[in-house]
Amino acid sequence: MSQFQALTVAAVTHETRDTIAVTFAVPPALRERFQFTQGQHLTLRAMIDAEDVRRSYSICSAVQDAQLRVAIKRVPGGTFSTWANDTLRAGAVLEVMPPMGHFNVPLSAENEKHYLAFAAGSGITPMLSIIKTTLLAEPRSRFTLFYGNRASSSVIFKSELAELKDRYMERFQLTYVMSREQQDIDLFNGRITKEKCAQFFQHWIDLADIDQAFICGPEQMMHDVSQALQDNGLAKEKIKIELFAASVPKRAHASSKQPLAGSHDCDVTVIIDGAHIRFAMEKDKESVLDAALRQGIDMRYACKAGVCSTCRCKVVEGKVDMDANYALEDYEVARGVALSCQSFPVSDTLVMDFDQDH
Ligand SMILES: Cc1cc2nc3c(=O)[nH]c(=O)nc-3n(C[C@H](O)[C@H](O)[C@H](O)COP(=O)(O)OP(=O)(O)OC[C@H]3O[C@@H](n4cnc5c(N)ncnc54)[C@H](O)[C@@H]3O)c2cc1C
Repeated sequence: MSQFQALTVAAVTHETRDTIAVTFAVPPALRERFQFTQGQHLTLRAMIDAEDVRRSYSICSAVQDAQLRVAIKRVPGGTFSTWANDTLRAGAVLEVMPPMGHFNVPLSAENEKHYLAFAAGSGITPMLSIIKTTLLAEPRSRFTLFYGNRASSSVIFKSELAELKDRYMERFQLTYVMSREQQDIDLFNGRITKEKCAQFFQHWIDLADIDQAFICGPEQMMHDVSQALQDNGLAKEKIKIELFAASVPKRAHASSKQPLAGSHDCDVTVIIDGAHIRFAMEKDKESVLDAALRQGIDMRYACKAGVCSTCRCKVVEGKVDMDANYALEDYEVARGVALSCQSFPVSDTLVMDFDQDH
C-alpha cells in the first residue's frame, strides 16, 4: 500500500499576503488513518516541473475541530511553498501522508498545568493546534504564548488567536513581539533573542510555574529560547522543539576515518507495513533510506536532511552511524530510534523496523 493517500482540497484561504491555509476533505474510509494528535504534521507530495517534491506542514486545527488543515507560508525561491501559494485551489487533489510527529505531550482533563510557547512566523502553525486542543481538553490548564513577527501584517492566524483570547480570557495569554513595528511596551519590540527571553523571565513570567515549554520557529531563535529557558532554571526535559528548517543544508556524508570492522557490505532488513524486505548495501557509503529507495521500496520520507522525522524507525538489530539529527531527543536515540535518511550501517547485519516507531 502506498504511504500517500489522495485527498481533495476542500478550501484554500489566504491568511496573510504570503500564507495560505489548506483544508482537506477526508472521506469516511480514511478518517481513522488521518486521526491526529495536536502538534503533528502532514507530508504533502506534488510533481512540480516533473520532480517528486515532498514537504512537511504542521496541522493547525485542534483535535476537537475534526478538520484537517495546514498553513503554507511562501518561502522566497522555495519550490513547494511557491507552487502551493500560486496554484492550490479548492477541488485540487494532493497526495498526503497520514499525520506523524511527536511535538506534543499527553493531555488529561484532570491536569492543572501552565504551558509556555514561543513561536515565530509560520512556527505558529503547530502551536495553534496545541494551544486550542489543550485549552479545550484541560479546563484548568493555562497557556502563555510569545509570538514573534515582523509586523501585524505578517501575523498568521491573527483573528483566530484573538478569538481564542476572548474565549479563554483567564487561561490564555498572548504577547506579540514585533521586529519592525513599534509597540507600546519596549520589551516587546525587536526579535526573540536569548537576552530578550531573560528579560521576559525576569519581568513577565515565572519559570518556576511552568510545566512544559514548546518552541517552533527559525533555528537560531529556537536555540536561543531553549538556552534561555535552561539558563533560567527550566529543565531540558520540559522543553519540546519543532524545527522547520528550510535552511538546513543537505550535507554530504563524511566517510568514517576508521576502517569499519567486519565485512564490506551490510545485510539489511527493512520492516515496513508488515513486510520484511532484505537487501545488501555497502557500509558507510549511502544512507539506508537511499539504498532502500534504490531497491524500489516504498519508503516514508520527506526532507532527507534529518529534520522532519518522516523516515523515523527503530534499529532492532545491528548499528548505524547518524550524520545529522535535528528531530530526535537524546533518550530516543538511546533506545534505538533512528532517522533512516541519516543512517549509515556500520554492522554486518542491520534490521530497521518502520512499523514499531514512527
Ligand atoms: C516538521 C515540519 C513541519 C513544518 N511545518 C510547516 C508549516 O506548518 N508551515 C510552513 O510554511 N512550513 C512548514 N515547514 C517547512 C516546509 O516543510 C518547507 O521546508 C518550506 O515550505 C519550504 O519548502 P519549499 O519547497 O518552498 O522551499 P525549498 O525549495 O526547499 O527551499 C528552501 C530554501 O532554500 C532556498 N533554496 C532552494 N534551492 C536552493 C539552491 N539550489 N541554492 C540555494 N538555496 C536554495 C530557497 O530559496 C529557500 O529559501 C515544516 C517543516 C518541517 C520539517
